[in-house]
Formats: sequence, structure tokens, C-alpha cells
Amino acid sequence: MNMKHTIISCPHCGHPVHLDLDFCEGDQDYFEDCANCFSPIHLNMHINDLSKKLELAVSADDEQLY
Ligand SMILES: [Zn+2]
Repeated sequence: MNMKHTIISCPHCGHPVHLDLDFCEGDQDYFEDCANCFSPIHLNMHINDLSKKLELAVSADDEQLY
């Protein structure tokens, strides 16, 4: 298992959201519901091939509807 625990801020309400990232799967694109406002948070996880560092992009999905 290769899990990393991290905390992000909800893009909708700013509430801290705890995540357990499983990065042995490689790049992932998924949604997590905020525990505070229940809005979907779009998470885009990318493993940098050179540094092997985890890069996490967090966005509010409704921003992409415009
Ligand atoms: Zn929220």
C-alpha cells in the first residue's frame, strides 16, 4: 500500500477535507463530496514521472460548466 494522507480546502466553502490518496494506481481523476457542504470536489491526481511527487489539482466542478 502506498497511501498519503493530505488535507485540502473545499473550493466551495473552504472547509478542510481529509483525503487518503492511493497513488500506486497512478494518475486519477475523481470526485469527493465535501463533508461540510456536500458539494462535489473535482480531484485530479498526477504523479510526476521525474520527481515521483504527487501533484493534486483541486477544482470546483461547476466552474467548468461555463
Ligand atoms: Zn465544502
